Amino acid sequence: DLTVISAVEHPALPKKPFTGRHLIDGGWRDSLDGATFVRRSPAHGTLASVSAKGGADDVEAAVAAARRRFDDGRWSFTSGKQRAALLTRVAELIDRELERIALLETLESGKPISQARAEIEGAADLWRYAAALARTIHGDSHNSLGPDMLGFVLKEPVGVVSIVTPWNFPFLIVSQKLPFALAAGCTAVIKPSELTPSTTVILGELLLEAGLPDGVVNIVLGYGKPVGAVMTTHADVDMVSFTGSTAVGKTIVASAAASLKKVSLELGGKNPQVLFPDADLDSAIDAIVFGVYFNAGECCNSGSRIIVHKDIAEEVIERVVELSKKVPFGDPLHPDTKVGAIISPEHCRKIDGYVKTAAKDGAEIRLGGGELAVPGLPGQFYQPTVVANVTGVMSVAREEVFGPVLSVLTFDTLDEALILANASSYGLSAGVWSESVHTCLEFARRARAGTIWTNTWMDGFAELPFGGFKESGQGRELGRYGLEEFLEVKTLQMRL
Ligand code: NAD
Repeated sequence: DLTVISAVEHPALPKKPFTGRHLIDGGWRDSLDGATFVRRSPAHGTLASVSAKGGADDVEAAVAAARRRFDDGRWSFTSGKQRAALLTRVAELIDRELERIALLETLESGKPISQARAEIEGAADLWRYAAALARTIHGDSHNSLGPDMLGFVLKEPVGVVSIVTPWNFPFLIVSQKLPFALAAGCTAVIKPSELTPSTTVILGELLLEAGLPDGVVNIVLGYGKPVGAVMTTHADVDMVSFTGSTAVGKTIVASAAASLKKVSLELGGKNPQVLFPDADLDSAIDAIVFGVYFNAGECCNSGSRIIVHKDIAEEVIERVVELSKKVPFGDPLHPDTKVGAIISPEHCRKIDGYVKTAAKDGAEIRLGGGELAVPGLPGQFYQPTVVANVTGVMSVAREEVFGPVLSVLTFDTLDEALILANASSYGLSAGVWSESVHTCLEFARRARAGTIWTNTWMDGFAELPFGGFKESGQGRELGRYGLEEFLEVKTLQMRL
């Protein structure tokens, strides 16, 4: 009784896999040793891309190009006006290439084409927003330091930035970082995930078309080791901007410590939503269902655990289960599909492991709880899954499942709800549903998370900073804060 969308014919499917090469110093290159790797569509099984497989030597060349270009000032000393014009041009080119980028993103990640399009539109908005910020870089001045002294605080680009991104929103996440780094005047080396390398390569093409000087942005394709590891430890790299798992984030911090690089991290989440009895349940249930199945739950902001007041728990579970059955799961190329494939068979088994363990530990599987067969597609899908009777100690309530699995916990008092909400090593986002402004604000002040949503979930704005408390990361992206991450402060004292 789930809503499953079978395989569709897609007339625009590319006849050949996308070919990705490294972008180093303005030129497209194969790996020095000629190695490649492939990516198959996780839904369709077809060959989506063949990419150059980078090694330490490729990273060396890319870092050297970024370092030379930064040090010669050809990008870092351009005016904000020039940088803004280039970033705006990139946004226009992203608009032009939207369909091509969205299709490739869907083929490599398995996400629904409609959501891939929305992601690319959102990314173009970030390039435009960062373009506006490029003209607002300023520090301040002090004229109260005595009669013969002036002080200036200058904001300067941090330098060469290594950008390492995950597979779940590849084009959006690189666009949360790169345009802000470029607006600040930095140069960059980027490594997209080995599972979704190709849309970052298209971005590289668009940057060159827009007229970005050679070497400002370099892209090396390949795996965490050696490519990511060399990029994040290299002596000529000033800063690492990483989005991915908390486990890899910790290794990056540890290895970057040797050269005291600045490190900005966007990591995992186990995000609670608390529902009080006076909540507008129609809105809350729509948002919960959207928040847990969006991107098949493979989302750092997944609203993967709800903490519901005991008086409304049964009603909420029943309504969430009924609505979940109506969400179209299946072929990501169908325009109506809302939930596509799981990124890999191993990841699908990991999701299932969390659900099976919860059932063994006494949780109640109210919906789903297994792989989903989609007629005509060989790839892996997971059923919409609702797990009730979850307690705070179960792994399904504590760990990032990264699948379409909702855990339901219950509470009696606001204090109890807050203890459950904060009982996590993560602190990315949290939500509260209540018609009482007082309840919402009290929750918002006491919840330990970087973003709090009250009576909404997962809205995103270029203007508002995003980032995590605790093991969800350090630093912020987006907004003015997103620009400041890529700026260094220089103090200038001038005796008159
Ligand atoms: P991952 O940590 O496995 O990989 C992320 C990137 O790091 C990939 O490009 C990978 O090749 C690279 N990498 C792996 N080992 C490395 C190493 N030793 N040194 C340097 N780089 C290395 O994460 P993933 O599976 O691609 O993505 C899922 C994770 O990302 C989830 O935990 C999710 O919550 C998180 N995420 C967070 C945000 C956020 O904004 N907070 C957004 C999206 C995803």
